[in-house]
Amino acid sequence: MFGDTIAAISTAWGNSGIAIVRLSGPDAWAIAQRQVRLQTGAPLKPRFARNAVLLDEAGEVIDHILVLPFRAPHSYTGEDLVELHCHGGSLAAQRCLELLISGGARMALPGEYTRRAFENGRLDLSQAEAVGALIQARSNEALRAANRTLDGELTRAVGEIYEELTALGAEIEVGLDFPEEDVPYIADESLADRLEVVRQSLADLLERCSSGVILREGIRVAIVGRPNAGKSSLLNALLKESRAIVTAIPGTTRDVIEAVLTYRGIPLRLVDTAGITENYHDEVEAIGVERARAAMKEADVCVWVIDGSEPLHQEDVDRVHELADTPHLVVLNKADLPQQISEASLTALIPASTVISVSAAEGLRLDELKESLVGLVSGTGALDTGLNASSRQVEELRGAIASVGTGLKALGDGLDQALVSGCVGDARRSLSRILGGDRDEDLLHEIFGRFCIGK
Ligand code: GDP
Ligand code: ZN
Repeated sequence: MFGDTIAAISTAWGNSGIAIVRLSGPDAWAIAQRQVRLQTGAPLKPRFARNAVLLDEAGEVIDHILVLPFRAPHSYTGEDLVELHCHGGSLAAQRCLELLISGGARMALPGEYTRRAFENGRLDLSQAEAVGALIQARSNEALRAANRTLDGELTRAVGEIYEELTALGAEIEVGLDFPEEDVPYIADESLADRLEVVRQSLADLLERCSSGVILREGIRVAIVGRPNAGKSSLLNALLKESRAIVTAIPGTTRDVIEAVLTYRGIPLRLVDTAGITENYHDEVEAIGVERARAAMKEADVCVWVIDGSEPLHQEDVDRVHELADTPHLVVLNKADLPQQISEASLTALIPASTVISVSAAEGLRLDELKESLVGLVSGTGALDTGLNASSRQVEELRGAIASVGTGLKALGDGLDQALVSGCVGDARRSLSRILGGDRDEDLLHEIFGRFCIGK
C-alpha cells in the first residue's frame, strides 16, 4: 500500500517566507537528487541541509532552495523523506511539486504523511489525532491539551490502565482454569478493590479528555427568550467586551446569527435567533419559535433572557421549566433599569435554574455569566490538565467505565468471576480501540481523511 513516493506542499498556501514541499517514500532521495541541482558536489546526507537550485525542463532556474533529507526510520513518516524549502509564494512551491510529480512521485492524499507515520509506528492513533488538533487549535489551552496528548500522556495513561486490566483478566482466568477447592485465585474483595481503582482512573481520564473536547470544539450556546428581552444586545455586549473574538460568521440560515468568542481558552459559540423579532406576528412568529427551538436542541447550553424591567410573563416561567433537563442559565437583563423582578423572587419561582442579573447595555456582570456558562459544561478544574481526545475516544472511555461498572456489579451480586472476566475483556477492547490496536480501516480512513493535504 505504501510502496510509492508521495509529494505535497506542506505549508500554507499563499505568500510566505518559505514554502516546504515534502517528499516521502522509498524513492524520495532519488527523485530529489534527479530534480534539483545541488550547489556543491557533496551528496545528500541525513539531517544536513544543502543549497540547491530548482531547474525546469528547459534548464531555467525556478528557485534557489534548501534540501533537507531524512533516512528511514528517522523521519516524521518513518520513511525516507526529503524536505525542499522553496521561497514562499505559491508559484515556486507549485512548480517544485510539479517537478517532483513528473520525476515519479504521486500527489499525497489528505493526512497521508501522518497516516504513514502511524502505519510505521512513529505515532499511535491518539497521537496522530492530536496532530490534527494541534493544527486546528485556536487557543493556548487547546494547544497545550493537544501537546500533552502528542507527548503521549493519553497513551501512557490508557496504557497503564490497559495493563492492569490485562493482569486482572489473566489472574481471573488462572483461577477459572485451575480451581483449587472452589477458592478463586484472586479473592472477590481484592478483585473489587482493584476494579474500583481502575474505574476511578478511567473517570479521571474521562474528565480530562472531556475538557479536551470542550477546548477543541467549544460550547454551543443558544440565546433565547421573548422578543425585546435583549438577546441581540447581550450577544453584542459579550462580543464587544471580549477582545478575543475569533470569528463572527453570518448565520447559516437567514435568521440565525452565530458568533464565536474565546473565554478561558474555550470557544463559546453564541447563537442568537435574531431577525425574527422585528415582525413578530402570526406565522412569522411561529417560524421564529420553531427556529429558536431548533437552536436550543443543538445547543450545549441555553441562555433564557428575561427583561427585568418588565413584569414577568408566565411564558418565561413555563419555558424555563421546559429547560429543566438541559444545562441552562436564566439571565435577567436590563439591570440598569428599575427592576420589576428581583433575582431572588425569580429564583423562588424557578428553583432548579441559576439566575444571573446582568445589563447588556452597560456590560454588568458579563464575566460572571461567561464563568457560569463554562461551569455548566466543564464542571471542575480539569481544563488546566485537559488532554486532546476525539469524541470517539471519549465514547470508548465511557464504554470502558460502563464495562468495569458491570463487572463490579456482578461481583457485588455474588456472581461468578467468569462474568467479571467478560467485562474486563470488554473494557480492554474499548481501551485498545483508543490506541488504535484494533485495526479498523474505515475508522482510519475517517480519521486521516480529515487532515489537510501535506500533513
Ligand atoms: P431581542 O429582541 O431579545 O434581541 O432584544 P434587543 O437586543 O433587540 O433589545 C431590545 C431593546 O432592549 C432594545 O431597544 C435594546 O436597546 C434594549 N436593551 C437591551 N438590553 C438592555 C439593557 O441591558 N438595558 C437597557 N436599558 N436596555 C436594553
Ligand atoms: Zn434580537
